[in-house]
Amino acid sequence: MSFREDLSHVSDWAVSYLERVPQLPVAADVQPGQVRKALPDAPPESPEAVADILRDLDEIVVPGLTHWNHPRFFAWFANTGSEPGILGELLIATLNVNVMTWLSSPAGTEIETAVMDWLAQLLGLPRSWHGHIEDTASTATVAALAAARHVRPGGAVYASNQANFSVEKAARLVGLEFRAVDTDDEFRMRADFPLDGATAVVATVGTTGSTAVDPVPELARRCADAGVWLHVDAAYAGAAAICPELRWCFDGVDQADSVVVNPHKWLFTPMDCSTLWTRRPEALHGAFAIERDYLAGTTDAIDLKDYGPALGRRFRALKLWLVLRMYGAEGLRALIREHVRLAQLFASLVEDDPDWEVSSPHPFSTVCFRHNHADNDEIARRATATGEIFVATAKLGDETVIRLAIGNAKTSEDDIRRAWEVLRACVPAQ
Ligand code: PLP
Repeated sequence: MSFREDLSHVSDWAVSYLERVPQLPVAADVQPGQVRKALPDAPPESPEAVADILRDLDEIVVPGLTHWNHPRFFAWFANTGSEPGILGELLIATLNVNVMTWLSSPAGTEIETAVMDWLAQLLGLPRSWHGHIEDTASTATVAALAAARHVRPGGAVYASNQANFSVEKAARLVGLEFRAVDTDDEFRMRADFPLDGATAVVATVGTTGSTAVDPVPELARRCADAGVWLHVDAAYAGAAAICPELRWCFDGVDQADSVVVNPHKWLFTPMDCSTLWTRRPEALHGAFAIERDYLAGTTDAIDLKDYGPALGRRFRALKLWLVLRMYGAEGLRALIREHVRLAQLFASLVEDDPDWEVSSPHPFSTVCFRHNHADNDEIARRATATGEIFVATAKLGDETVIRLAIGNAKTSEDDIRRAWEVLRACVPAQ
């Protein structure tokens, strides 16, 4: 078999998967160890044909997957492995360049710089900021906190008790103490906490639990006065800022020191792709740049390895480039707006039923809600066991809520209405 034939098999498989995924059960129905047991104990001694591997993909792997690329996947932050992104991943592997220094990949470095500038324009961020791509927001936050520590060693990182756990993990990794700050009745970080011994504050735009937006303008003012680094975690909701009517969520972000947005969450880019900007690139450079003769670069161009933890860097910018070009800003805005509309529609269905309530504000594409009398964990479990939808739960204060997160480009109004029917049918008898 030639590579051309193999490629054609694989691309046929990809097209057919995307066509049939809406009919597959969203969540895997397998027991731990089941998939491993179906695989040979030892690796193959002789080469195998791609057709055999695709057969195993169909028979063993697909039934053992929870399908994130399913239009009724509503758990955590649902996302999309879009067609432009899939094409991008193919090209990335084909080129297989390592974007560590400008010399190691001149066009890789400059496409990355260009897409970061394009995306900054779409999001309304200052174009003068440095931007680059990390694998995940977890890594981007490590980079931001390492820069903060470079400026002010020791000390503590403050973030709300609703901040993603990656913030605490990042603080731990860079050797800073993590201190959780209380939230108000809408799960936003309180801005009036004492900044004792602070090295950094992390504000969240779109918290993981309820998508609350912390008071960034106030936090930015306080951090600037105190000389404390303000990092904004907009991993999920930052994408909304490409729509002028949702740009309010970025109020004050231009006064922060760094911000992370994950195109692999709500910007239709396959895992992984996390975009990090900073107004203070010299602090990132101070935290990460180490010169070695075997990596001697050129002095008049940027070496992206000097701005984050990794030396070897994938050409992630290429898939983002395809996404930005093949959807266009118009296409991306239309999808974000449709998701917000669907979330409002779902919330209105919940609100119309006196047995249920919406638990928190829902300005983006995620709705937290609960049944007033039944066990919400049990409802979510039953709903997911139907195979028709996949929803997760979260704790907001003392209450368990069900989260419906819309992030798949193919999710339709029918999917949302069906999700509501399934959820209602899954309420245990009282
Ligand atoms: N920040 C927020 C608000 C998140 O919701 C998440 C993940 O859901 C993260 C950060 C971590 O993102 P990543 O998986 O890219 O590290």
